[in-house]
Amino acid sequence: MSLHLYDTWTRSVREFTSLKPNEVGLYTCGPTVYDYQHIGNYRTFLFEDGLKRVLKLNGYRVNHVMNITDVGHLVSDADEGEDKMEKGSRRTGKTAWDIAALYTESFVADLKSLGIEFPTTLCKATDNIPEQIAFVQEIEKKGYTYRTSDGIYFDTAKQPTYGYLGRLDIAGLQAGARVDLGEKKNATDYALWKFSKPEDQRQMEWDSPWGRGFPGWHIECSAMAHKYLGAYFDIHCGGEDHITVHHPNEISQTEAAYGTRLANFWMHGYFILLNSAKMSKSSGEFLRVQLLLDKGYDPIAYRYLCLTAHYRSQLTFSWDALDAAQTALERLRHSAHSLGAPGVADQGFVARWMEKLNDDLNFPQALALTYELLKSELAADVKKATLLKFDEAFGLGLANWVPKVEDVPATVRSVADARWAARNNKDWAEADRLRGELTALGWAMKDGKDGYTLTKA
Ligand code: AMP
Ligand code: ZN
Repeated sequence: MSLHLYDTWTRSVREFTSLKPNEVGLYTCGPTVYDYQHIGNYRTFLFEDGLKRVLKLNGYRVNHVMNITDVGHLVSDADEGEDKMEKGSRRTGKTAWDIAALYTESFVADLKSLGIEFPTTLCKATDNIPEQIAFVQEIEKKGYTYRTSDGIYFDTAKQPTYGYLGRLDIAGLQAGARVDLGEKKNATDYALWKFSKPEDQRQMEWDSPWGRGFPGWHIECSAMAHKYLGAYFDIHCGGEDHITVHHPNEISQTEAAYGTRLANFWMHGYFILLNSAKMSKSSGEFLRVQLLLDKGYDPIAYRYLCLTAHYRSQLTFSWDALDAAQTALERLRHSAHSLGAPGVADQGFVARWMEKLNDDLNFPQALALTYELLKSELAADVKKATLLKFDEAFGLGLANWVPKVEDVPATVRSVADARWAARNNKDWAEADRLRGELTALGWAMKDGKDGYTLTKA
């Protein structure tokens, strides 16, 4: 089966073909670096990583651009309130520039621990201010802008197709917002450029043809996507919250300036929920990758957990679910390791796995095939090669994983090996005796289907 992906624009699964032969232009909205990213954000980045891997498995070269939002994202997505960066600066006592650098560095480290492949281009909004100004000028030239006392705004009423991606009820939104519009003409209008207010004493501001200020949040993505991928490219991704505001605005900007709707496919990752609410930076427990590490989890266990749910369904996070994922991952690693050296992959299994992946990235079903493979009658080296092939999509690092034998003293290891052999020979009395010996040595042995694990008792 050829690759089929769900396109939010059409609200349907469509066959994917690239605009240029063998190459895919992919833009994914990146982090706002005013704080650490939480593991909810990483569910979206993991979905995008899975997409990239599947595109590569289909033979495409992927030109992946991700932005770092280090200016212009206001506390409210509706152009209200303080800039998140300036607020982060007050919270931490560091400069806005320093916190951007700090949280970008931490983001890059987290990508690594989660096994997420690095984008081809990771670009900062603040490194592309002239490009954003030029983009706004282009929109202005085409007649879509107006000026208020606090900035240059996009006039969404001038674009009949505005909001189609989000299937927005423009009339309803307009009726609901009438009293709060201020100088905005329409509820859905948004800032392209905001003026600095002297009393705000902004750290991040630039000169522009309209006055000193800073770019609106949405323009960075249109400008950087255009710079690195052109006015029309293959796939644009983000989290589900972007379907109604950020992405319609990106589309409107590019459509106004260049007459294209930016991307051929629009794909969105659904949220991780915590206690039935969206996991967010501002509410509830702040779950960072570092917290997982501090609690003794392998971040790859979180990756495994995300693989168990389809990207278009919300997933509820719980520590029990993460425990189960960590246990499953450990068992899979031990099984893979005990299979020894790889031979040649089983083409039947590989074909079925590709079919699941090509069916709108059905990772849960592709992952389930792993267990069917392990239970099958295939030879160990065939299983191993097939498993390693599967892992090109899963990214669980199975090829390089080795048990931490150095932690287990040689005497303990030999008693455990003897007990494993006794158990396999159904010599239960001897197996029990050796378990007693292990307990005396301070170790507990847990039996799996394809091997055992040792933990300090
Ligand atoms: P931000 O740093 O807020 O700009 O968000 C970065 C990415 O994470 C965006 O694509 C968001 O849509 C996504 N995101 C935010 N919260 C969640 C969540 N709870 N689950 C999944 N993705 C999320
Ligand atoms: Zn964006």
